[in-house]
Amino acid sequence: VTEAADRRRRGPAGGDRFPAPGIRRGARGYDVTICGAGFAGAVLAERLAESSGQRVLVVDKRDHIAGNAYDHLDAAGVLVHRYGPHIFHTNSDDVVSYLSRFTRWRPYEHRVLAQVGDARLPMPINRTTLNALYGLNLSSDAEAEAFLATLAEPVAEIRNSRDVVVNAVGTRLYETFFQGYTRKQWGLDPSQLDKSVTSRVPTRTSTDDRYFTDSFQAMPLDGYTRMFERMLDHPLIDLALGQDFHDLPAADRGPLTVYTGPIDAYFGHRFGPLPYRSLQFRHETHDKRRFQEVAVVNYPAEDVPWTRITEYKHLTGQVHPRTSITYEIPSAEGEPYYPIPRPENQVLFKRYEALADAERNVVFAGRLGSYRYYNMDQVVGQALAIHRRLDARLPGLAAT
Ligand code: FAD
Ligand code: UDP
Repeated sequence: VTEAADRRRRGPAGGDRFPAPGIRRGARGYDVTICGAGFAGAVLAERLAESSGQRVLVVDKRDHIAGNAYDHLDAAGVLVHRYGPHIFHTNSDDVVSYLSRFTRWRPYEHRVLAQVGDARLPMPINRTTLNALYGLNLSSDAEAEAFLATLAEPVAEIRNSRDVVVNAVGTRLYETFFQGYTRKQWGLDPSQLDKSVTSRVPTRTSTDDRYFTDSFQAMPLDGYTRMFERMLDHPLIDLALGQDFHDLPAADRGPLTVYTGPIDAYFGHRFGPLPYRSLQFRHETHDKRRFQEVAVVNYPAEDVPWTRITEYKHLTGQVHPRTSITYEIPSAEGEPYYPIPRPENQVLFKRYEALADAERNVVFAGRLGSYRYYNMDQVVGQALAIHRRLDARLPGLAAT
């Protein structure tokens, strides 16, 4: 602990620092209990400990930290992501400079191919995709744009994830690249999903074949888990793994709770379960150096059950005689990985959010706590913003 943080924690009168006057620390001395050791929970734990001098207990029901970003060496010694590929990209300098306290980076620009019949074509759709699929020789952005204009089927009011794509590239490309993939991924037709879902994937007239165009694209040099270890390695942070928050003894609870699990579970699913989409991961190791030419190959066809295959060595740069891959097979049952963006789910979420707003000393954060389809950098940004607001509420503490 820095002296300043310790002083801030104790405060001028040595009293409790907490938002609701009169609330004492839990019996075991924690100021804050955090449910979840993913990005949301870990960033808030680090900030509340290091910057605000709070004593923090982080619990996670899993036996590891890092949430869905968890990576580890598999039986073959290949660094893999247990919960599917996590590629870091952001336009936020604040998020980069914050995370850079805990890791160095390996520059990595993500590239994806889509398996269409026997061909593997760049995804997002770009000029190369169009030339290959239509046997053309479009040689400039202007030519590609003019060609796309002949395919596009303008939709007067873009309301859902089908409209977005058909409006930009027409029915054939929509059916080839989006319809089957989306039906598999979400168990819903694109017309039943918010437009924000397929809007994540642009259409390009250039030959840029990167999946993302963010200003910062890199992987944590020693992996995500190592970065989380450095974040959580703090004298004011205790960690309880394999511990369900809902079974936590009262003595371990502090006056403030940060909850990053599913918001509906916190309230005992009072209004019925919020829908989440799950995945089954099939991890394999192959006795060869390379399995596929890029990190991720998407499978938009509906007759294969998986949506994509990831080969991790492309992401990590690891040199190894064998290689490990993961198939992602969407499913309705299992861990809640994706909130499902559609109007009726948002209505149900709003009812839970109203309960959350009325909870005086509980803060809801992260992808599951906010029921938002957030990327990692957005979760970090949200957690840093929440910390700034909390810090201002902690009496006598200077924001850092
Ligand atoms: P999580 O990482 O889910 O952490 C929540 C934690 O809370 C979990 O560890 C869980 O075990 C714990 N928890 C829940 N309930 C309880 C309880 N009752 N008691 C104790 N613990 C509990 N983002 C990107 O930016 N780039 C990508 O390439 C990318 N790829 C992804 C691929 C997949 C397959 C998935 C599912 C997500 C991907 N994401 C990606 C999104 C990224 O995973 C999230 O933005 C981020 O991990 C969310 O962090 P979080 O802390 O909100 O949630
Ligand atoms: N999508 C698609 N075909 C693709 C890639 C994406 O239909 O080849 C759609 C699909 O609905 C997917 C969404 O676009 O869920 C967002 O894609 P992204 O790659 O951002 O998904 P994530 O990595 O978050 O699973």
